[in-house]
Amino acid sequence: MAYTITLIPGDGIGPEVTDAAVRVLEATGVEFHWELAFAGDRAQDMYGTPLPNYLLDSIRRNRVALKGPITTPVGSGFRSVNVALRKELDLYVCLRPCKSYPGAPSLYPDVDIVVVRENSEDLYMGIEYRRETPEAARLVRFIAEESGDRVKEDSSFSIKAISQSASRRIVQYAFEYARANGRRKVTAVHKANIMKYTDGLFLSTASEVARDYPDIEFETIIVDSLCMQLVRFPQRHDVLVLPNLYGDIVSELCAGLIGGLGLAPGANIGDDIAVFEPTHGSAPKYAGQNKVNPMAMMLSGVLMLRYLGEKEAADKVENSIAQVVVEGSSLTYDMKPDRNDPTVVGTSQVADAVIKKLRE
Ligand code: NAD
Repeated sequence: MAYTITLIPGDGIGPEVTDAAVRVLEATGVEFHWELAFAGDRAQDMYGTPLPNYLLDSIRRNRVALKGPITTPVGSGFRSVNVALRKELDLYVCLRPCKSYPGAPSLYPDVDIVVVRENSEDLYMGIEYRRETPEAARLVRFIAEESGDRVKEDSSFSIKAISQSASRRIVQYAFEYARANGRRKVTAVHKANIMKYTDGLFLSTASEVARDYPDIEFETIIVDSLCMQLVRFPQRHDVLVLPNLYGDIVSELCAGLIGGLGLAPGANIGDDIAVFEPTHGSAPKYAGQNKVNPMAMMLSGVLMLRYLGEKEAADKVENSIAQVVVEGSSLTYDMKPDRNDPTVVGTSQVADAVIKKLRE
């Protein structure tokens, strides 16, 4: 029986990398029925909104989507279409594995880190007050009255809210993931020495949840110290669980360790819905040039196959990508030390090479 999947090509380089990933997924022999849906710039032009209801209905119905990156429209009602999509569908986990593949231009040969980023709150809730508005002035007064602290009157505000319930479910997810995937350690990342209430709550909740998983090692680390360690000894880390903002930043740091955004897949997961998409954005300057690396999108497809229980097909695609990387003759510019290397190929040629490996 074919899987019905909502397919969102996205903006910029999205349609090219999505097309490459779809071709590879179809070559596995697993059957898919793709339900095409548009978001972002294309949806804005077609329906007057970057996040149309029919797209949300399609994902709710099919429960699984494969999504290209979406450009955040400047000046629309949406702060970010991606953040709105995750919020609408309560996709509270952002899963971003970062693994070194031999032959990739990575700084280390042996990185295998899984970033589990909280996806629903923290500074990304979009609760902000612009300087010199009545709301900002009220906040300045409120803070002065409540705490005696003087905040400059020309300040803008972004509210950071972290709840016990959201912290609990993301840390539980990290431990369950570790257990299900044979991982040995979960590290909770925080800055609770400074943000005693928000990050303090995340940290104490994580320590509480960890007691239910005595089979998995647990440690905690301050985010700045983690960044230093990741650059020096990334091999020491396994599963990292982080609040939203740190998770966003640290997942790009980890992508940098393994050779860049072209190799960094991702998934946004809720209780019974999952949307698979690469970590990278829509890179508009490269749109339509058959130039960028489709591997992050393909590897997001690998995560989708695993989620669907198609382990064998997932392993085959991942191994085929790894072989193409190690052979080095069908790689995009970002995988080469010199981006003007005359042997670089385009997006669709990478898909051809991966499909050829799948069929060997
Ligand atoms: P970006 O990830 O689109 O691009 C940054 C740079 O990374 C590119 O210029 C390119 O050099 C490189 N890059 C990215 N993907 C690559 C690939 N597959 N192969 C080779 N090189 C690649 O980040 P940006 O320029 O900050 O954002 C562009 C737009 O994308 C913005 O509108 C942003 O909001 C959006 N965005 C969307 C998502 C998403 O849909 N999930 C995520 C991040 C950014």
